[in-house]
Amino acid sequence: MGRVYNFSAGPAVLPEEVLQEAAAEMMDYKGCGMSVMEMSHRSKEFDNIIKEAEQDLRDLLNIPDNYKVLFLQGGASQQFSAIPMNLMKNGVADYIVTGQWAKKAYQEACRYGKAVKVASSEDKTFSYIPDCSDLPIDDDADYVYICENNTIYGTKFKTLPNTKGKTLVADVSSCFLSEPMDVTKYGVIYGGVQKNIGPAGVVIVIIREDLIRDDVMEGTPTMLKYKTQADAGSLYNTPPCYGIYICGKVFKWLKKQGGLEAMKERNEKKAKILYDFLDQSKLFKGTVVKEDRSLMNVPFVTGDKDMDAKFIAEATAAGFVNLKGHRTVGGMRASIYNAMPIEGVQKLVEFMEKFEKENA
Ligand SMILES: *Cc1c(COP(=O)(O)O)cnc(C)c1O
Repeated sequence: MGRVYNFSAGPAVLPEEVLQEAAAEMMDYKGCGMSVMEMSHRSKEFDNIIKEAEQDLRDLLNIPDNYKVLFLQGGASQQFSAIPMNLMKNGVADYIVTGQWAKKAYQEACRYGKAVKVASSEDKTFSYIPDCSDLPIDDDADYVYICENNTIYGTKFKTLPNTKGKTLVADVSSCFLSEPMDVTKYGVIYGGVQKNIGPAGVVIVIIREDLIRDDVMEGTPTMLKYKTQADAGSLYNTPPCYGIYICGKVFKWLKKQGGLEAMKERNEKKAKILYDFLDQSKLFKGTVVKEDRSLMNVPFVTGDKDMDAKFIAEATAAGFVNLKGHRTVGGMRASIYNAMPIEGVQKLVEFMEKFEKENA
């Protein structure tokens, strides 16, 4: 087995048990003589797969009955358009811009109505989360938008913004199921699954029922109407069947690990190993304000581009792969999602210690 420690930001590491189970079921899923990839999305088998996946997700997140769970396509980026098209009733929405993904969502919303940037951390290369306790929220705002964990910059909202009663919409792509969340605080929670849950090709939308409307923005494609997808139980057309099946397996794996409280504990422990090392290192340093640090994405630098490149090359050769930072920030980034074992982080830190000594 030539498995590496994969620190990719996404598509990213998946639990080995899940991959092994999927491999064992590849040729013959539960005696039906075919792979899940080959079966009708209207079959009894697939009906069970999608219903169980939904139920397991509901159990993990404690999703109340008045929220729908949708398994869609188009990635997180398509939601940048779907959200304003479905939710902008007054034509106004407030955006908190804490990174590239929030910025893209904001720019897309500008095409459909009056999107207002009510806070931003762009002045310091998105290295912190702005104070969102008393923002100038529009009286007419249909929603307040955040990207809860900023994959590229490694920041996370530790407290949700004060939306002054407005609906909160959150992109949780890179922190999905990394810890418990109170679903009732949100109108819409969505995320592409390729960061912390499953293979690329599925986006999960959790939406409060009163936000699912027929009178959406004129010109909204049928496929982008939440009502179309909700009424059809995510089966309006052929869904990303195999991806949903893998997500379902990851949900079961998470339940077996003890659920999201247990994952939170584990993720805190894992991240602490890396942050503690960075805080005392003379060579490497974290790029984010301490109190806003993400548990999932940990960017760091040496301050010297050539040294960064040397580190990445040597780390790759040693089996620690995909540590290169996002092309817009440079340096390094270790994404340590749910499926990254604690040994992966321990060994990475040992490797960094050794590298630091050799390059002192
Ligand atoms: C990766 C990512 C996206 C983009 O996801 P796609 O599925 O590629 O569209 C959006 N938001 C966040 C927070 C991400 O990490």
